[in-house]
Amino acid sequence: MTAEDGRKPHLAVAPGPGADTLTVDDISATEVMRRLFREILWPHRRILALALVSMAIGAATAGAVPFLIQVVADEVFVAKNERLLYLLPIAIVGVMAVRGAADWTSKVTDAWLGNVLVADLRIRMFDTLTAADLAWVQRTHSGRFVSAFVNDAPVVDRAAAKTMTALVKDGLTVIFLTGAMFYMDWRLALMVVAGMPFAYLFLRKQRKRISGSVRRSLKESGDLGSLLTQTLQSLRVVKAYRQEKREAERFRVIVDNIVRYLMKTARSRAAVGPVTEALSGVGIAAAIFYGGWQGIYGTVTLGHFAGFLTAAMLTYPPLRSVAQAQALLSEGVTAASRIFAIIDHAATVTEKPGARPLAVPKGRIVFENVGFAYETGGPVLADFDLVVEPGQKVALVGPSGAGKSTVLNLVLRFFDPTSGRILIDGEDIRDATLASVRAASALLTQDPLLFDDTVRANIAYGSEDAGERRIVEAARAAAAHDFIMRMPEGYETVVGEGGNRLSGGEKQRIAFARAMLRDAPILLLDEPTSALDAEAEAKVQKAMEGLLRGRTVLMIAHRLSTVQRADVICVMEQGCIVERGSHDELIARGGAYAKMFRTQFVGEAPSLAVAGS
Ligand code: ADP
Repeated sequence: MTAEDGRKPHLAVAPGPGADTLTVDDISATEVMRRLFREILWPHRRILALALVSMAIGAATAGAVPFLIQVVADEVFVAKNERLLYLLPIAIVGVMAVRGAADWTSKVTDAWLGNVLVADLRIRMFDTLTAADLAWVQRTHSGRFVSAFVNDAPVVDRAAAKTMTALVKDGLTVIFLTGAMFYMDWRLALMVVAGMPFAYLFLRKQRKRISGSVRRSLKESGDLGSLLTQTLQSLRVVKAYRQEKREAERFRVIVDNIVRYLMKTARSRAAVGPVTEALSGVGIAAAIFYGGWQGIYGTVTLGHFAGFLTAAMLTYPPLRSVAQAQALLSEGVTAASRIFAIIDHAATVTEKPGARPLAVPKGRIVFENVGFAYETGGPVLADFDLVVEPGQKVALVGPSGAGKSTVLNLVLRFFDPTSGRILIDGEDIRDATLASVRAASALLTQDPLLFDDTVRANIAYGSEDAGERRIVEAARAAAAHDFIMRMPEGYETVVGEGGNRLSGGEKQRIAFARAMLRDAPILLLDEPTSALDAEAEAKVQKAMEGLLRGRTVLMIAHRLSTVQRADVICVMEQGCIVERGSHDELIARGGAYAKMFRTQFVGEAPSLAVAGS
């Protein structure tokens, strides 16, 4: 229902550089984390608390190990305390059991929170997409949206699950072990931790690099999704114009870019471990030297030193994991900010607070001085005035781009007028609930949109409570019952993606049946028969008659057969009605319509649909 060419397969062109509305740079990392925490994790605070407690217990048991080692060395080996020899193994098994239980709990709760986080983000994205303005969704390439679900969301999941464990559990472990080191010998401990500030500075730099390359790789993945969906949708054109090589080349360029950015990320991420390790290695070497010196010439006992060294060594792995988590965190934050860019998209077509359902006893439509412009362009409608009386059939004709589809879009409130108002049975549709406005009209377009589901589900779409009898009745009225019954599984036949297992006429008749069942008082037709050949059109004619009977109809017409059904014909040019009247009146007047009739319907010139494009 956009411009004419919006409905037809596009020539496959690589997603242009256009505005990438899925990337936002103005949400800071702290803001993203605060929102993830507040909006998604906080509602699950009990599980979160369980995760934190089990992580803390796990970390504390790690802190206990150096002390056990110290006791073993000093009391068992040096002081020969036999009683402790029996007690210690029990203590160790006890500590390990607690550690095991805490570990299990923390891993499971952590995974749960990560999964819930992503599930929640996906649900919220989907809700936003379905509630969003058509204009925004149409402007953004569908591949980019798909990519947000399949590429961005898992990055957040991975980052969330890993960083939480790393930051909380490993962070606490580092703190406990560092505490143990300081408790045992503050001078040695100082030597070990002296390198940490440098490691921190290095990490900060890496984090910035990583977030830059991750942002680019996710954007490229979005482009990949766009190109993929676009190529699949227009494969016929790609093949017909022999552009396979060109498309493949474009695809390869994007894939290469992704690999390049992913490798950049991998290199920055990989540098984190060795650098932190090298810095702590230097610290530990210094501590060993100083501790050993004190052992030979000073007062440090073997147990003391062994305990200390265990603490220092045990600090390594969690420290490295904390460091790496910083990198992962910036990946997650970058991906999450792309997701928030979708979730935060505010719809402009909204329901007023306290909006009531629209009552449509008659189905009278009034356009009062309606003006409209799409966000991205100049005025499309100006001072558009039109009254469609109940049961009347009004046809809009005019060159492509005149604004005919836009008029239908406005009745459904896919967009709101920029000035003036639209009334249905006396009520401004902006004051009614969106659901009731959309329920008032049934829309039939040139390309009937079917879902990859059964014939029955497609007919019952939007009228889920309809029983078998009404579905069959609707199908009969739409002249669809017979061909449906000839299909292998009748009403249970699955129609394929977009209904591609059916012919154009069959798809259209199923769409008619859907509209019949819906039984809306107003019918909006975007010339549903214009894409059909003469034979298929003849078959749907009867169905069309039944559908039109007793309803208010606003239709876009390109064909004489459609125009002839209309009580009133409005000729549109550049967003205005330039002529109106019945077919005979307009012909008699000899104006724009008469001229159009001669060129278009008598077949001397290109069709009306392309006359203005
Ligand atoms: P018609 O149905 O008469 O061919 P449309 O109502 O589709 O005309 O389009 C009227 C004008 O609005 C055209 O110039 C078209 O390019 C523009 N237009 C249509 N849909 C959109 C859209 N979603 N965003 C921006 N401009 C649009």
